[in-house]
Amino acid sequence: MTPTLEDARALDKHAAWAGLSEFRAAFDLPQGVIYLDGNSLGPLPHATRARLARVLDAEWGTRLIGGWTECGWMEAPTRIGDLIAKLIGAAPGEVIAADSTTLNLIKCAGAALASRPDRTRIVLEQGAFPTDRHAMEGLVALHPGHEIVAVPAARLAETCDRRTALLLACDVHFTTGARADMAALARAAHAAGALALFDCSHSAGAVPLHLGAAGADFAVGCGYKFLNGGPGAPAWLYVARRHQEAARSPLQGWMGHARPFAFEDRYAPAPGIARFQAGTPGILGLSALEEGVRLHGAAEPAALWRKSASLFDLFAALTPGLERLTPEDPALRGSHISFRHPRAAELMARLIASGIVGDHRPPDVLRFGLTPLYTTHEEIWHAATTLTALAA
Ligand SMILES: *Cc1c(COP(=O)(O)O)cnc(C)c1O
Repeated sequence: MTPTLEDARALDKHAAWAGLSEFRAAFDLPQGVIYLDGNSLGPLPHATRARLARVLDAEWGTRLIGGWTECGWMEAPTRIGDLIAKLIGAAPGEVIAADSTTLNLIKCAGAALASRPDRTRIVLEQGAFPTDRHAMEGLVALHPGHEIVAVPAARLAETCDRRTALLLACDVHFTTGARADMAALARAAHAAGALALFDCSHSAGAVPLHLGAAGADFAVGCGYKFLNGGPGAPAWLYVARRHQEAARSPLQGWMGHARPFAFEDRYAPAPGIARFQAGTPGILGLSALEEGVRLHGAAEPAALWRKSASLFDLFAALTPGLERLTPEDPALRGSHISFRHPRAAELMARLIASGIVGDHRPPDVLRFGLTPLYTTHEEIWHAATTLTALAA
């Protein structure tokens, strides 16, 4: 039977995610908008507005340069990295918040190539988020004799061989929402003597991640999507502890030096993950990111995932006539739902005009983020029934 609005409201009161109900009130969510794009730009937490006011007035505006030592600015990348580590199954000291996802991909992949000097290939997924491939092509152009091998997701594991330095895979595909088997990919890479780098932009903050247990060597992810860090928020970067002592970022700079304020001519990498910093961290952006990450840290990850799965099931049950791209099995998907429709662009424009915000991915994909921290089943009911009516 098709779920009713009453069914959706009852789901919102379900005990399995009751602990999440308080989080909705923590965000600015404009009246009259059903926001299903938190997987692309997360909404503004109230705490972020207050935090930024404090950073401006009580830190930068008052302490001036003293802020670096008196207000915890120097430690911000590693302090926030440790908060993110808890969300992604990493240990303290394995993550920093810094730069953009794209730059972090280059740092990690460059470190991987440097540690496999006798190997020339980066294996990656065809049709994945374009920045991953652009960044790898740029990196390979700096390494004569190296090449990119792009294959469909299903062939990533078998393509790793003795020429492969690095396997790069997205944890969750940005359009289909299909989820990779990270542990299996890492095993395949390792069996071939290669390293594994995962782009977790569409999972961190919504989908359970266990980077350590999965055997990931490197990983990166976005700060402004599910983590609610704000537009262009710093991204994060993970390097497994076992690699840190030998790993060298190709983007080295004074903030990754062991003694930045000794101003030494000779580069000496900082111990641990801090060597993956390059230049001065942006404190306004990091402060905003810290509030988003803190909110997530207060939510129970299992409850988030249970609710995400339930939001998906409701959306799917209300859209039986549409061609869904996202797999049914929760183990095989991330936290968005997407459909293929020949009038995708027009349908999304009409949805947005009626206050239901998802996005259109060319040529014919409609994508809706399922952000369990604040999205309700009631909202999903309205969005899915409106979509079904428009698509008929
Ligand atoms: C959003 C996204 C990015 C974003 O990269 P930036 O450098 O932060 O702009 C990278 N990879 C994937 C898979 C993404 O979904």
